[in-house]
Amino acid sequence: MFDLLIHSGSYPDFSRGAFVQANLALRDGKIAYVGGEKPAARRVIDAGGKVVSPGFLDIHMHEENCAEGDKWVIARMMARQGVTTAVGGNCGVMNQPVGEFKAMLRRLGGCPINYMLLSGYNYYRHDVLGHGHYEQIGPEEWDKIRSHLLRDLDEGAVGISFGIEYDPGITTEEIKYAAAARADDSLLLAAHYRADSGQSIASIREMIEIQRSTGKKFQVSHLSSCSAMGQMEEALALINEEHRKNPRFNYDTYPYNAFSTTLGSTVFEDGFLEAYGKSYSDILLTEEPYQNVRCTEEIFRAARAAYPQMLAVAFAMNEEEIAQAITNPIGMIASDGIVNNGMGHPRAAGTFPRVLGKYVREEGKLDLLTALRKMTLEPALRLELQHRKGVIRPGADADLTIFTPETISDGPVFGDIDRPNQGIDYVIVNGTVTVEGQELVDETPGKFISHFDR
Ligand SMILES: [Zn+2]
Repeated sequence: MFDLLIHSGSYPDFSRGAFVQANLALRDGKIAYVGGEKPAARRVIDAGGKVVSPGFLDIHMHEENCAEGDKWVIARMMARQGVTTAVGGNCGVMNQPVGEFKAMLRRLGGCPINYMLLSGYNYYRHDVLGHGHYEQIGPEEWDKIRSHLLRDLDEGAVGISFGIEYDPGITTEEIKYAAAARADDSLLLAAHYRADSGQSIASIREMIEIQRSTGKKFQVSHLSSCSAMGQMEEALALINEEHRKNPRFNYDTYPYNAFSTTLGSTVFEDGFLEAYGKSYSDILLTEEPYQNVRCTEEIFRAARAAYPQMLAVAFAMNEEEIAQAITNPIGMIASDGIVNNGMGHPRAAGTFPRVLGKYVREEGKLDLLTALRKMTLEPALRLELQHRKGVIRPGADADLTIFTPETISDGPVFGDIDRPNQGIDYVIVNGTVTVEGQELVDETPGKFISHFDR
């Protein structure tokens, strides 16, 4: 007797490059059967006309803050868009050390999704040790930060992330030193650019230099949010050339024409609008007393002074360049989702259905199989989980997203990120149904996946 039978759906077989119609039976959190039979199971899901995909693996997002009160705020948004495993701790940012996050997961008896974490460099440099954003620091301080990173790696972090732009005092040497903290080639490095738009090409060159110095896997973070301001062609040419020589260099990207970060961040220093060729009205604020307010210069300055932690949305990117980043043969789809006090950019809740609805079905810019590979197998390969995630075959983890290709689309919009997605029918994590329709029905099957349990 199996736990769950999913019959009559089609699943993407990336090795054959085709969709295959088959029935799947799950047992003890694993896919136990794939084939034409309909074995007996305690529960049966009819997936006729639907795609049964490996669960989406979001390799770039920002985990919740335990201090906000033990709620899986962003994990729920992830689950409702079909994500079954997410990697937090990106862009050098963390909300707490890895050990504290794991303790929250234990305390709550599980999570709606599986979680992996990177150790965030800037969190230790600025938030924990108190170094100023523009301050240059020396080897003694580098070592202090490194001891924090090593503790997170011991706790099971899968790599280290950097938010170079957020602390402009960071030198390339300092990053190389941290990146070499542990000689383990299976660790992942990820970095948010030193600077976007006009300086984004120089920033990618710096990341190539860092990768070459360490030899570790390296991910350019959210390509479109830093290079879709007129630099995409050159950025992709540079990244693709490097990737051909060295497949350990890659990138992630999200499908929106606006980025979002805290108002107090260095991104919004004087001169930023000129660099983007945009105006104050292209900046949207997200929390009271300015919720859904488009800026004037006066409002922007007042809000930035009073609410540096508020997330602001900047409509700075060009649509055509966003599509180029998504459809380029290499590169992964990832949300970069970040939520503060339940508010933020819709990418946190709608990235995956948006790619499948807008770019695949409506605009035909990408075929469905390729889009799914960029959301499942590619990140699984990067994380060295391809033997158990990103694939459908007996023995793999039963992390599945069942969706209707004719109706899938994103609901969340700027100003209302809780609007439901369409077409995500079921989400299954470790063999347990977590989402049915848009309803969360179980918040506990997700686990912390440590670097050491791969
Ligand atoms: Zn970032």
